Amino acid sequence: MASGAELIRKVKEQIEEIDPKDVHELGRNGNGAVIVDVREQNEFDEAHLPGALHVPRSYLEQRIEGAVSDRSKRVILYCQSGNRSAFAAQTLKDLLGYEDVASMRGGITLWKDRGYEVEVPRRLTPEQRERYSRHLLVPEVGLEGQLKLLDAKVLLLGAGGLGSPAALYLAAAGVGTIGLVDNDVVDLSNLQRQVAHSNDRIGMPKVDSAEISIHEINPDVKVEKHPVRLGAENIMEIIRDYDVVVDGLDNFPTRYLLNDASVRLQIPVVSASILGFEGQLSVFHPYEGPCYRCLYPTPPPAELAPSCGAAGVLGVLPGVMGLLQSVEVIKLVTGKGDTMAGRLLLYDALGTTFTELKVRRDPDCPICSRDPDSIADDEMGVFPDYEAFCSGAG
Ligand SMILES: [Zn+2]
Repeated sequence: MASGAELIRKVKEQIEEIDPKDVHELGRNGNGAVIVDVREQNEFDEAHLPGALHVPRSYLEQRIEGAVSDRSKRVILYCQSGNRSAFAAQTLKDLLGYEDVASMRGGITLWKDRGYEVEVPRRLTPEQRERYSRHLLVPEVGLEGQLKLLDAKVLLLGAGGLGSPAALYLAAAGVGTIGLVDNDVVDLSNLQRQVAHSNDRIGMPKVDSAEISIHEINPDVKVEKHPVRLGAENIMEIIRDYDVVVDGLDNFPTRYLLNDASVRLQIPVVSASILGFEGQLSVFHPYEGPCYRCLYPTPPPAELAPSCGAAGVLGVLPGVMGLLQSVEVIKLVTGKGDTMAGRLLLYDALGTTFTELKVRRDPDCPICSRDPDSIADDEMGVFPDYEAFCSGAG
């Protein structure tokens, strides 16, 4: 029976060993080779080679095909000191049919001794690990998705019916920066649906009231307040730095303005609207799906625009629609799932029906058929301004 040391020596004779210097010369993208770390999760999390994939040796047989499906590809394995990766290399070569496998001599220890750079992955604090533990358990979110959420900047247009549930749940989900655009104050008649506000905050600016509620749920969230009305003069400055815009606007002309600005800046907009017992939802992802103007080349007649007066709405409905918007935001940020880009969802709360319509880009769209840089300032939101539009409604 061979001793452990003899066995290691024998295995190393049967496989190719490669010096860290030669791995380093391949560069971060491996120059056609795949670099795989076969250590345990906690070791990988401490530090690893830049660009390395992670397949722990204990899961090698089950997971290597997921990481490297092409068996003719050059695969360079490494571990802490070069022994575990030697065994792993033998397994790949002799048992799994990988044709071009090498083990890095001396492992990451020798790599570091040579002064080569390692990558230290970002980590969550113990408190964040606990706060987001249910996200970490979902493979589609996980650590990677949670870090993306924490880095994300999401702008809510309106801190009212749609913006309230979106603000609360996106804060709870760990969206790192939430911007709020609203120049209104909390009114008693808002509280039937605008759950980010409360009785004792009547009269307070909605952005301040929503900020309090956001921080009560998650003090980590950075809140950026814009207590202004969105207009042609400020829209580009306000939305420019955000990754996703959540449209809870209650008027059509500003929607056109928002559309034109978001196409120019190529920022996806998650849009919803509500009236009575009916809600609509879509995602306008510039150049990946239709824009708002592709769907609605012209605004509806002013007398049909519900935004101009006080329109009735079931109090729960904006909750449903605002949360559907929040789900779309999380998918856009994490890059997982299929968003509503190119689809329009109609929700009828009275009949409890969800209807989906396909919507397509208009090749002649006055805005998104063109290059974003060719859209001029004076073309943006070219529709009657809100007051003129609404006065027409009588
Ligand atoms: Zn368009």
